[in-house]
Amino acid sequence: MVMSVRPLVAGNWKMNGSRSALKELSAMAEGYDAGLKAKVDLMICPPAPLVFLAAAAAIGTRIAIGGQDCHTEASGAFTGEVSAEMLADSGAGAVIVGHSERRQYFKESDALVAAKAAAAIRAGLAAIVCVGETREEREAGKALSVVGRQVARSVPEDATPETIIVAYEPVWAIGTGLTPTAADVAEVHALIRKKLVSRHGKQAAGIRILYGGSVKPANAKELMAVENVDGALVGGASLKAADFLAIAAAY
Ligand code: PGA
Repeated sequence: MVMSVRPLVAGNWKMNGSRSALKELSAMAEGYDAGLKAKVDLMICPPAPLVFLAAAAAIGTRIAIGGQDCHTEASGAFTGEVSAEMLADSGAGAVIVGHSERRQYFKESDALVAAKAAAAIRAGLAAIVCVGETREEREAGKALSVVGRQVARSVPEDATPETIIVAYEPVWAIGTGLTPTAADVAEVHALIRKKLVSRHGKQAAGIRILYGGSVKPANAKELMAVENVDGALVGGASLKAADFLAIAAAY
């Protein structure tokens, strides 16, 4: 982590949660005390139907609310879709794009992910662009080339520290309890930083690069201490306030 980069711990609730789950958000707000606020930003990305309520519940708490996906268009005849503008109008400040579950189950390409990130920026949201290799790709020694390609093709040209956050999430580490070694995380994050700086200039030193994939209170400290790891994107462990706050407390 570069000292000037303020870390972010973001929670991805995926297709989990209900209005009653918003009590966890309130508990997170209660536990987000001055000590934590001084060190780390928090964000929760609930499913789209909860974004408005979550954003309302988060007013005055300094916990940001994000979406999990968006369409590339602002509006139109795209039944079932949600635009970045709608998320912004509902109180979101960010949106995850290109999560591996979207890439895998909905066949999202790097080009589509880049277009979604551009749509987020157009709507005034920050885009959390996810990248990461599969188990087969890692075993074949292709992790760096795959992630490098995804970063080059999924992050829009005009990326700045305000508009883009990159999340490295090895597909094989998501929801499995497995994590890469600190050395492997360091290697991939260094590559992502290098790619960002070579394409977007020196200011890209300030683009936050999150690690995601089985982040838990027990491993957060080790993972968050790795160079160029500027926070975490947390799935399962973001559903409970106690776990999420314990991860944030790794800072
Ligand atoms: P996990 O998910 O923390 O449950 O592994 C991470 C993610 O998919 O963002």
